[in-house]
Amino acid sequence: MSSPPSGPGKTAPKLLKDFLLFDPVKSPPKRNILTDHPPPVGDGPLLGPQIGSCKHEYTTKTSQSVPPPLDTRPDSTTKYKVAAVCKKCRIHADVRIDYARSTNPCPNSEYLLHHFQRLTPRPDDVTGNRIRYAWQCSAPQCQASLQIDFRVGRLTDHEKDQLTNTEQLKRRYDVVSQQDPSREGIRQATPMEALVRLRKYVRDSLNPQHGRRTFPANNKRFMEAFGVYGQDCKPLLERLGFKYAVRLLDVVRGGRVMLTSAQDELEWTLPSPSPLDDRLNADGSSQRELLEDVDLELLAWMFKISSETGSVNPAAADGWPSADRDVERTLAAQSYQRHVTLRRVAASNEDLPYFASLGALPDFSDSLIEFAYDRQAMCDPDQLPYYFECLQVVTQARGTEQLQMKTATLSSQDVVSRRDLSAAYRFLNIPHADASNLSDERIIELFQAQQPDLGVIAAEEARQALNKIGTARQSQLLINASRQSVDTYEDALSWLGNGASKDMSDDTLLAILAAKTSDNRANEEIGQKAIATIARSRRSNLLNNWLLTGSSDSYTMSVDEALRHLNIDQPVDEIDQTILPVILDSARVDRPGERTEKAIAAIQQHFAGKTSTMSRSPATWPVGLTSHGNTCYLNSLLQYYFSIKPLRDIILNYDHYKLDTSVFAEKQERVGNLHISMVEIKGGQRFAEDLTHLFERMIKESGSAVKPEEDLVCRAFLPPQDYALLASNADGQAPTVNGDLESAVDQNLTDVAEGPDASTASAAADARHPSNASSTTLQASVNGDNADVSMTNGGMPPTPPASPGQKPVDEKQQPSDPPPLPPRRPSMSAKETALAAAKKKATEQQDVAEVHDSIMFRLRSGMLPSGMDDSGEQTDALRDMYAIGMTETEVIKGVTGKPTPQIDSSLLLKVPTEPSDLYSSLDAMFDLQPKETKPDTESYKSIRSLPPLLQISMPRIGWDTKRGGTFKSEEFLRLEDELYMDRYYDTSHPQVLERRKRCWGWRRELQALKTEQKALSQTSVDQLDGPTAISETANYLNHLQEINSVLRDVDVGEIEIDEDLSSALASAAKQQQERLTELQSEIDDLQKRLDFQFADLKSLKYRLAAVFIHRGTHGHGHYWAYIHDFTNNIWRMYNDEHVSEVTKLEDIFEAKTWNQGTPTYAVYVQDDRKEEIVQPVCRAPERAPTPQPSPWTTQTEDVEMQDGAPLRPQREVNFVDPKMVEEGGQNSWDTTRQVAEQITWEGRG
Ligand SMILES: [Zn+2]
Ligand SMILES: [Zn+2]
Repeated sequence: MSSPPSGPGKTAPKLLKDFLLFDPVKSPPKRNILTDHPPPVGDGPLLGPQIGSCKHEYTTKTSQSVPPPLDTRPDSTTKYKVAAVCKKCRIHADVRIDYARSTNPCPNSEYLLHHFQRLTPRPDDVTGNRIRYAWQCSAPQCQASLQIDFRVGRLTDHEKDQLTNTEQLKRRYDVVSQQDPSREGIRQATPMEALVRLRKYVRDSLNPQHGRRTFPANNKRFMEAFGVYGQDCKPLLERLGFKYAVRLLDVVRGGRVMLTSAQDELEWTLPSPSPLDDRLNADGSSQRELLEDVDLELLAWMFKISSETGSVNPAAADGWPSADRDVERTLAAQSYQRHVTLRRVAASNEDLPYFASLGALPDFSDSLIEFAYDRQAMCDPDQLPYYFECLQVVTQARGTEQLQMKTATLSSQDVVSRRDLSAAYRFLNIPHADASNLSDERIIELFQAQQPDLGVIAAEEARQALNKIGTARQSQLLINASRQSVDTYEDALSWLGNGASKDMSDDTLLAILAAKTSDNRANEEIGQKAIATIARSRRSNLLNNWLLTGSSDSYTMSVDEALRHLNIDQPVDEIDQTILPVILDSARVDRPGERTEKAIAAIQQHFAGKTSTMSRSPATWPVGLTSHGNTCYLNSLLQYYFSIKPLRDIILNYDHYKLDTSVFAEKQERVGNLHISMVEIKGGQRFAEDLTHLFERMIKESGSAVKPEEDLVCRAFLPPQDYALLASNADGQAPTVNGDLESAVDQNLTDVAEGPDASTASAAADARHPSNASSTTLQASVNGDNADVSMTNGGMPPTPPASPGQKPVDEKQQPSDPPPLPPRRPSMSAKETALAAAKKKATEQQDVAEVHDSIMFRLRSGMLPSGMDDSGEQTDALRDMYAIGMTETEVIKGVTGKPTPQIDSSLLLKVPTEPSDLYSSLDAMFDLQPKETKPDTESYKSIRSLPPLLQISMPRIGWDTKRGGTFKSEEFLRLEDELYMDRYYDTSHPQVLERRKRCWGWRRELQALKTEQKALSQTSVDQLDGPTAISETANYLNHLQEINSVLRDVDVGEIEIDEDLSSALASAAKQQQERLTELQSEIDDLQKRLDFQFADLKSLKYRLAAVFIHRGTHGHGHYWAYIHDFTNNIWRMYNDEHVSEVTKLEDIFEAKTWNQGTPTYAVYVQDDRKEEIVQPVCRAPERAPTPQPSPWTTQTEDVEMQDGAPLRPQREVNFVDPKMVEEGGQNSWDTTRQVAEQITWEGRG
C-alpha cells in the first residue's frame, strides 16, 4: 500500500487535535498542521492552523460510518470508519482505521497510545476534490493503518447562490406570476424555503419507502423556489439525479388510445439511489452518498441562514451532533491519562511547541510524556538531542519526580540534549552552527585554549561541556579528553594539545607541557601521567628520565628516539653500516646541536653494543647465560652463585665438601629441619655436579654467553628420586633428553641407585612408578608432598626441599600455585611424564626466592656436615654464609618473655602496600607487633648473629584477605647502598633496645598522624584536597546567592540556602588547613627524630651486593639481576646472555617505573669483606677470542684479570683441577674453610 513509515510521529490524541484544526482548503497540501511536524523550536516558524481556517464543527454522517462499538477490542479483521461533515465549511472527512496487521493493537500496557507515523503519499492521493493522507502506528505489534480523506462540499457556491439569492428568488416569483396570473397563492420563496424544499426532495429520494417518486414540474412551491418548471436549477437537479420529462397521458379519443403531451403535464422524477453494500469501503462516488452529503450540506446551510437572518430553521430539531467523540474513539484517543495539576494551565505558551514536537498534548500524564518521548526517540533517532531537550523543558515546567527521574536516567545513559549541547558549545565559544564542520582535534584545541583562564569550578564545567560534546558526537577522543584521561598515547597527546602529535620530538612535547603547567600548576600531576603514557609508547629514555629526575638533560637516548630524531625510517638493524657514517655526518650538518649528537651517540652505541661483548676481553667480563625459554629467574640465580666467591669455590670443589656415601650410609643431621634420605643426598651431589660443570664452562667459555644444560635446569625441579630420568652424565656430554630416553634412563637409574641404599631406592622407585606415578603424584612431589619420598626413607619424616629455618616450600607457595600440569597421555611412560612435568615447571616462571631455597637445600643435602646445632640442623659452609641468628621475644599483656632463638637464611619482608624504603620495611618486620597466631600476644624480633651475606627476600605477591586472591605489589621500595644493622642487633650497643622501644611508640604516633592527614586531605574530587574542596563549596554557595538575586529579579523561585553554611564551611576549611599544616610539621618532626635515633650506631655495616629484579605479573614477566663488582667499582646487569655495565644507579636503588621492574630479592655483603666475597669476574677462556673491534670502539679493553694476576688467554686450561685458576694457586679448600669458620659475627657484639 505504501513505503514503510519513518521519522517522527504523533500520538493519537495529538493527531486528533490537529485533525480538528486542519483546514485542507486553507492549508497548503504539502506542509500543514495535520501531516507535518513543527521544526525544532528556534529552527524556524512554528506550525499552526493557517489564518482563516475553519474552526470545524464536524458531525457524523451516521449512514456512512462504522464507528467502534463500545467495549470491543479490535483484532486483525477490524476496520472502523467515521465519515463527518463540517457545519461551517461543509468539508467532508472520512477517518478510517484498519487493524489488518495488528497482533496486539494499541493501547496496551506497553504502547499506551497509537503513535502514528505518516506514510509517504502516493501520487493519486490528491485528486480534484479529494485529498488523502495515510499513517501507520509505529507500535510493532499494532501497525494500525490510518487514512483520512477530505472532500470539499458537494454543493458549489454558485449552486448555493442559485438556491438562496433573494433577487433570483424574486425574479422567479415575477416570472411564475406573469406566466399564469390567474394562479392563486403565488408568493416569493425565502432562501430558507428554497433549501427546505430541495432538502425535502433529497430526503424523499433517499427514503425507499417514500411512495410518490414524481411531482409535476409546475408545482407552485417548486416553481417559486427553482423557477418555471425548475428550469433555473435544472443543472443542479439533474446532477443530483432528478429527471425532467413530459408525462405521457393515455388519452382516449375516438375509441383510440393516443399518446399526447402538454406543458401542463411536464413532471420531475426523484432520483432512486441504490442501497450501498459496503459502507466501510465506499469512496463517496455513489449517488446515495452524494445525496446524503447534500442533505447534510443543505441542513448546514439552513443553520447558517437561520443564524445570519434570524429566520426560523424548521429543521433545527435535527441538530448537529458533534463527530469529535466518534473520531476520538476511532483513533483510540479517548480517556487517556491526564496530568493532574493544581495550576490552571498545564503548560505555558512557550512550552507548547515542545509538547507538539513530542507528538504529545500538554495535558498528558507524565507516563504518556515518557511514552511520547520514547516513541519519538525510537522512530526519529537523528533528532534525539532535540527530543531530549523537549523532555527537559516539560520536566522543568512540571517539576515532577517521575520526569526528573526519567531525564536523570537518560543523562546517565549519555543522552545529551540539544540545548545542553548548544550550551556546551557556547561555553567553549564555538558557534553551534559551525560545530559540525569542526574536527574533534580542533574542538580540543579550543577547549584547551580556554583552560588557563578558568578557575577550578569553571574548569570542571568546561570539562563537562566537552564531555557533552564528545557524547553527542560519539567521540571517544573528546570524552577521554574531558575526563582528563591520558591512558592512551592518543589521549595523552590530545591532553597536551597545542598540536602535540606522534611526529613531535620528546623535547617539543616537554616544552608544550612546560607551557601548559606554567599556565596552570594544577596540570602538573596529570602532565606527568601524560608523559608517562607517551614514554611508555615511545620507549623514550628521555621522557622516562624526565619523569624520574624532572630534567631531560642527563639521559641517554634510546635507539628508537635517536632514529626518530634523525628522521631514519628503517629499523636500526637494517641500516647499512657502511653508509651509516654518511647518514650521521649529514645529520650533523642538517640539524647541528646537542640532541643530534646524543642521537648519533645512541646509534653508535647500538652498533658498538652488538659487538661489545666480543670486543670486551672475555677474561675481564662475566659470561652471559642463555635462557631456556623462560628460565631467566634461574640464570639470575646462577650468576649470583657464580659471583659469590666462597659459594663458587664450594661448587667448583664440591667433591671436597660432599658426604662420602661409601663411608656414610645415612645422615643424622637435618637440612631445613628435615631428615635427608640417601636419594636426596645423591640427588644433591648430582645437582652439584651439573653446577660444577656449568661453572667450569662459564670460566673457560671464550664467547660472550653459555647455555646451561637442560638437565641442570630440569634437576632444579625434578625430585631427586627422578633424577635418573635424565640422560646426560657428569662428564659434560651434551644432554640427550630428547634422544633415546628410555635406554638413557635405564642406564642412569642404576647409576643413581648405587650405594648402600640402592636397592631400597630403586625398589621404591619401581614400586612407585608403575603404580601411581601419575602427573598428580609428580606434582605433589615437586611441591613438597612427600608421601613418595618417605617411602624411600623407610618411614622417615617428610623431606621436601627447604632452606634452614624456613618453612617448607609448599607452605610459602602462593595459593594460585602450582600451575596445573597437562593430563598425562596414556602412551607416555611414568618417567616421561615426570620429566615433562619438571621441564614444564622449569620453563614456567618461578619465584627466585623459592628456587634459591630449593637449590640451597639440594646442595646442602649432598654435603658432609661440619657439625650439628642445638636443633639438630646440619652446619656447613653454605649455611654459614647466610644463616641469620634471630630471636623472637613475646610480650603478653605487657610482660616480656624470654627470647626464642631461631635461624633464617633470609629476612622476609612483608609485601609492600605503599611506597617504602628498606629501613621502614625492616622496621615493620622487627618492631613490636601483634602476633597473629596468638591472641593478646605481641612480639618483636632481634638479630643475635649476622652472616657475611645478608639475604633479604622482598615478596611481591601478596594475599588479599579482603578480596581473597593474590595481588602483585608494584609499590616502590627504595634500597640502601649502605645498610646498618645495629638498630636490630639488641646486644650490639647498650642502648639499642631502649631506643628501639622509643621508636615503636613514635612510629605508632606517626602512623596515626598519617592516617588523619590522609583522611583530611583525600577527597573524591580529583586534584582537590579536603580544605580546598570545602572552600570551593563555600565559594559555590556564595555564587548561589548571586544567582538567587537574579532569580528574584525574574520572579522565579529561589534556591534555598542556609545563610550561615557558606561562612561555616569557609571557617571549617580554614581550620582543616591549619590542622593539615600542624599535622605535617608533627610528622616531619617525628620522622626527623626517627631518622636520627640510630644515626650514631654504624658499626654493623653492609653493602648492597646483588639485587633480583622482576618485571611483569605473577607467573609472567622477566627476571634479571644486578651485581656489584666492588673491586672494579661497577654494577653489572645480568640479563640472560647479556651482561652489561649499569651507569644509571637509580635503576637499582630506586627502581620504580614500569621498565625498571621491582626488586624481589636483595643480598647485602658485610662491608669489610665485600671485595673478598663478591668477585663476579672469574674467566680463563680456553681459546683466544678473535677481536672484532666495532667501527665505533677504538680503544681496546684491558686484558688484565681483576686480581692483578696475569692472564694467559692462549693457555689450555685443564678443568680437572679448577683450583688452577684461583688466584695465587692457593688451596681454596682451606681458604673456604677458614672463611666459613670466621664467617659469622656471633660473639662480636
Ligand atoms: Zn469547517
Ligand atoms: Zn497503535
